[in-house]
Amino acid sequence: MNDILRIAVQKSGRLSEDSFALIRECGVDFQNGIGQLKAQATNFAAEFLLLRDDDIPGYVADGVADIGIVGENVMAEKGKNVEIAHRLGFSKCRLSIAIPKNEEYRGVKGLEGKNIATSYPRILQHYLAENKVTADIHEISGSVEIAPSIGLAEAICDLVSSGSTLFTNGLKEVETIFRSEAVLIKQKNLPEGKLALLNKLLFRIKSVQNARKNKYILLNAPKDKIEEIRNLLPGMRSPSIMELADKNWVSMHSVINENDFWDVIEALRGAGAEGILVIPIEKMIL
Ligand code: ATP
Ligand code: MG
Repeated sequence: MNDILRIAVQKSGRLSEDSFALIRECGVDFQNGIGQLKAQATNFAAEFLLLRDDDIPGYVADGVADIGIVGENVMAEKGKNVEIAHRLGFSKCRLSIAIPKNEEYRGVKGLEGKNIATSYPRILQHYLAENKVTADIHEISGSVEIAPSIGLAEAICDLVSSGSTLFTNGLKEVETIFRSEAVLIKQKNLPEGKLALLNKLLFRIKSVQNARKNKYILLNAPKDKIEEIRNLLPGMRSPSIMELADKNWVSMHSVINENDFWDVIEALRGAGAEGILVIPIEKMIL
């Protein structure tokens, strides 16, 4: 009954800040000393292993860690025996093929026989094989985007988010071969006690994610517009309605989704709502 969930997290890099922020928003506290490779949670049966992201899938597959947060690109590249427990929605990026800006792109078949530099040989090979293209894959571990300018390769396959790194290196993106986001991975056969801890953590993660996607909204509505406004507010069940001192008006409270936020606000104003307040939600339990 003294199970501890061992969670592998990137020590420092593009995943770290959002990973730690999510863990803390789940109410799990830990002391993180500089240079430390392990950290104990103070209020949850968990321990953090702070690692290079490349090592996370292997550690989880081998059972050194029980779960881990890693980019789906790294999970796919390593090909370890792990499974996705939950998608986390941050660190979104894509793995793309790029060629020098001034070269004409003749489609994926045009890559036949070319040298392509990448840190993702497995995903690239899979993509090329699917498209029946044979190319020479050069595996390099970093600074892939300079490979064409130093004559190491004719094309590259690398991670892109805005495309500005490609642009500054005189390259253009021509094919997206993989889309990635941070994922929570788990070892396939977690014992029951650890699974219970994982489920407890997942419940918290989902309520944090739901809260981020939604906003609490308060507004004043003329009494004769209640039905019309109510139809515009989905709410968790239905909106709360409170009397105001002015008997012709009520205050209505509800929750709206970020995706259709501005459309709903405009429709509410159109229907006669006034004094609209929108407030962030910290946790949302459905
Ligand atoms: P480590 O030192 O741990 O090996 P790294 O240098 O290999 O780190 P990072 O650059 O920190 O890796 O990127 C980690 C992950 O963040 C990537 O595998 C990818 O999933 C995601 N990522 C990479 N580039 C971007 C980007 N430009 N925008 C958003 N997410 C990204
Ligand atoms: Mg790495």
